[in-house]
Amino acid sequence: MSEDHERTFVMVKPDGVQRGLIGEIVSRFEERGLKLVGGKFMRIDEELAHEHYGEHEDKPFFEGLVDFITAGPVFAMVWEGQDATRQVRRMMGETDPADSAPGTIRGDFGLDLGRNVIHGSDHEDEGANEREIELFFDDDELLDYERVDETWLY
Ligand code: ADP
Ligand code: MG
Repeated sequence: MSEDHERTFVMVKPDGVQRGLIGEIVSRFEERGLKLVGGKFMRIDEELAHEHYGEHEDKPFFEGLVDFITAGPVFAMVWEGQDATRQVRRMMGETDPADSAPGTIRGDFGLDLGRNVIHGSDHEDEGANEREIELFFDDDELLDYERVDETWLY
């Protein structure tokens, strides 16, 4: 897959869904030029939560994190585009919304560390994007298509 077609995993967390932010968040990635190749409105069960957040198993906030992420529906997505993983992370802001610049998703919509609206694969964790996409989506749920504006974007 060429660099223009890097894929990354993104999820509107339960707080973002409850606060009606799905559309706003999808719009930001669409307008940036990223291409939506998969989307799923779903609930995360305990098992998937443990697998998805396995790297944090030993952290003091782990139990609270699992309770939070399983508390209500999430909107899971796969976005594709040049440098997609890193660019999504830049658009998200920092882990703590309080440290996130206005203009970023967490900086515009969050105040509290535990309630930070969105997840995106870590660009510093090699292969995290592919691992997370596989965890949430089957191959046939990801669509290959041309978006008309791509010719002008790249
Ligand atoms: P990110 O989501 O920015 O990749 P991490 O992978 O470090 O951040 O953490 C995963 C999630 O765990 C965060 O998005 C946040 O919801 C939660 N979290 C991280 N650190 C803390 C903390 N110190 N207290 C409570 N929740 C936390
Ligand atoms: Mg992370």
